[in-house]
Amino acid sequence: MHDLTAPCIRCGFCLEACPTFVLTGDEARSPRGRIHLAKAAMFQGGAEAFDTCLGCLACETACPSGVRYREILEHARARLEAERPRPGLRALLAVVTRPRLLRPAILMAGLLPGRHLPGWLARAFGGIGPARLPEAAKHPGWAPYDGPTPRGTVPVLRGCAMDVLFPHVHEATERLLARVGFRAGWSNGCCGALHSHAGFTSQGGGMAERHGPDVLTNSAGCGSHIPGSEDVTTFLLRNGLEKMLTRALPRPRRVAYMDACHLVHGQRVLDPPRRLLRAVPGLELMELDDCHCCGSAGLYSMLQPTTAEALLDRKWQSVLRTGASILAVGNPGCLSWLAERAEGSTVRVAHTLELLEEAFDH
Ligand code: SF4
Ligand code: SF4
Repeated sequence: MHDLTAPCIRCGFCLEACPTFVLTGDEARSPRGRIHLAKAAMFQGGAEAFDTCLGCLACETACPSGVRYREILEHARARLEAERPRPGLRALLAVVTRPRLLRPAILMAGLLPGRHLPGWLARAFGGIGPARLPEAAKHPGWAPYDGPTPRGTVPVLRGCAMDVLFPHVHEATERLLARVGFRAGWSNGCCGALHSHAGFTSQGGGMAERHGPDVLTNSAGCGSHIPGSEDVTTFLLRNGLEKMLTRALPRPRRVAYMDACHLVHGQRVLDPPRRLLRAVPGLELMELDDCHCCGSAGLYSMLQPTTAEALLDRKWQSVLRTGASILAVGNPGCLSWLAERAEGSTVRVAHTLELLEEAFDH
């Protein structure tokens, strides 16, 4: 742990980048404070500080000393999990990362008032809040499309939550890859990002390895966790989709783009989704003035609902200020969290790849 914390020079450049510090002004809820607790091996004593961290990695981007905060957090959470095991958290992970369990759980959640877990069940899951279970997206389906003869096959992560909640995004991915001449070779199973994030690092790392390097991902959280992976938008940009998009029929729409934390801070992917969206004729791309995490952050919105809701409020106000009718984002967790807030409003929340495929599909 000393090797990881030693580069921190306590300059504080990370403070304003940290959503939990900005919300609370509490040093213990800042990257610098959490690093200090880890350095002093105060895991159990600093449990609250580590539990409230979103793992958004904004502090890594802001840090001039190259502190590898993700590793510090994962290490701290692993130590905490050893000292304060939460079997309920393991059970929750087992459900949300296995499509064969998540599908029936989501169906059954439809029978619960407001899709909220009853308090007794939430407590049985070991300290999760009044969680609302997500809903699978409703999509009208894509028109038939036969792409050109593929010149190759590329591995693409099927994963868990995306496959269950947003299967149409996988279809959009497959179709966009076909448009630039590639067949999607689906790599099945969860990548273990949520496990590592929660402190089950060796399990999470082993699950990532199963997918091998060079796999393409359309989920920011997964891509940030699998070494050597590449976001689908980067691949599509490199393979000529931008030019193809400019030839699509114009469709005027104002779209706000939200950087998913693990895309911008974890993978440093800023430009490709923006360039592709801007290439769509008639699409006006807007930037948000709130660059903090939306509060989704893996299981965070279930484990820390009060902070998560406060961050969602800030993000949603920022979305409304753009005047956009669509919000684009590249991560399933953010998608379902923001879509919940969008219910009853005129703003639609969509995956970036879904919007890119729509440019052709009308
Ligand atoms: S983590 Fe980086 S930015 Fe934050 S206090 Fe330490 S050195 Fe400064
Ligand atoms: S990961 Fe995010 S919430 Fe956690 S310390 Fe860093 S900036 Fe703050």
